[in-house]
Amino acid sequence: MSDYLKDNNYLDFLLKESNEKFQFIFHNTNDLVQILNSELKIEYINENAHLKALGYLKHDLIKFLSGDILHPNEKKDAQKFLKNLTEEGEAVREGRLRNKSGNWIWFSIKGRRILELSDELKYVILLREISKRKNAEQKLKESEERYSYITENANDLIEIINENFEFEYINEEVHKKLLGYSKKDLIGKKLLNFVHADDFLTTIKALKSGFKKGEAEAEIRFKHKDGSWYWLVIRGKTFQDINNKSKALLISRDETKRKKAEKDLKDTMKELKRSNADLEHFAYIASHDLQEPLRMVASFTQLLARRYNDQLDTEAHEFINFAVDGAKRMQHLINDLLSYSKVRTHGQPFMELDMDIILQEVLKDLKYSIEESNTMFMYDPLPKIMGDKLQISQVFQNLISNGIKFNDKEYPLIKISVESKKKKWIFSIRDNGIGIEPKYYDSIFKIFKRLHSRKEYPGTGIGLSICKKIIKRHGGEVWIESNLGKGSVFYFSIPKFRER
Ligand code: ADP
Repeated sequence: MSDYLKDNNYLDFLLKESNEKFQFIFHNTNDLVQILNSELKIEYINENAHLKALGYLKHDLIKFLSGDILHPNEKKDAQKFLKNLTEEGEAVREGRLRNKSGNWIWFSIKGRRILELSDELKYVILLREISKRKNAEQKLKESEERYSYITENANDLIEIINENFEFEYINEEVHKKLLGYSKKDLIGKKLLNFVHADDFLTTIKALKSGFKKGEAEAEIRFKHKDGSWYWLVIRGKTFQDINNKSKALLISRDETKRKKAEKDLKDTMKELKRSNADLEHFAYIASHDLQEPLRMVASFTQLLARRYNDQLDTEAHEFINFAVDGAKRMQHLINDLLSYSKVRTHGQPFMELDMDIILQEVLKDLKYSIEESNTMFMYDPLPKIMGDKLQISQVFQNLISNGIKFNDKEYPLIKISVESKKKKWIFSIRDNGIGIEPKYYDSIFKIFKRLHSRKEYPGTGIGLSICKKIIKRHGGEVWIESNLGKGSVFYFSIPKFRER
């Protein structure tokens, strides 16, 4: 056998083998393979793969290039693909084809011109399904769009920082609006450069522990572009970016107004407490120091009256009486003011008080005015409470003597009762006196507030405000129920258990 023949057989053999390989791949690959003739008409397809991916057999695919199967948005793309294929010999695109059930499936499409042995031009088209990747890409795009819509339209400041605490992303519009910064002012800069020196440590701690634990929150002052400070409450959450680097997403809210209101309130409270304490101190000193000179005025005026009794005419005696009366009234006022200012500062420690005994002692002290006014008393058995003896006696004394004083009946009646609640006792002092219009329920507890002239009913207008202060010190409340001409009931509550 000549070498030529040998070679020819060998070539046949190789050709056969390659053809078999091609047939095997052609029929078994999952990719869709199509062979087109020089007029771009389909000659062969691997039907199995086509059936599996699109549900079509060869004759269905005649429509393939006619367009029905192509996505309407990609027709131009498809034409360009064929142009490249015929002119350049190669073409690629990604596009959607409609399957038999009418759904669009994504493919990556590659085409190549080949030359058949017969010198005829043919084209091989390879289609690989990429729906999964495309869907994931589409989802990612949608979520990116949603995310950027939310961040750009949020009211909060949103930032991404890296592990060096440098800004990598900011929602620019919000930053411009709230803090005056644009992207170029912040991106690549360190967050700490914008933090108030006093909040430096808090910030570093929060950032470090945030990157360690995955979450953090801090309340810090951040510099506005104009140099002023804004209070931000920053919440952060870490995540790994595509290169596996740790990043933190920060969401911050401007709390400057709340912080300012909080500070103003604190300052006002402090100022109020201070001025109250000053006032109490002043009232105490003044009333204490005024007592002595006043006693001198009263007693020397009285001494004057006695010693020069014969030499003074009636008018002079009358003047002296006025002076003594004024001095006595002033003494009352000063005494009441002194007790008012002493409630908080000079109170005694609380001890167990038998309220029956306290009441009896108070009634004994008021014996003279009780007898003079013909007042009758009714009272329930009273409990034991924890309190300051002098102060609780004073409350009883003030309320009972008011019940006697503000009474126009021939036989004033006062009833003292108690009601047991779960956590407190409610004491009540009821009278059948002149009563009070409801519109004065609150104001009568204010210092110096009186509803009558001194001529009608003597008094200083301090008694009820002392009661209120004492009961408040004991953790209770005092209030009134009354109607004009129908008598009044004064209530005060005392907690059964004292909180320490
Ligand atoms: P004062 O008794 O020195 O006037 P208070 O502070 O004790 O001062 O009382 C304030 C005002 O409340 C009284 O002037 C009076 O108008 C009214 N008031 C107090 N207790 C009674 C009462 N039991 N009945 C009617 N009015 C009362």
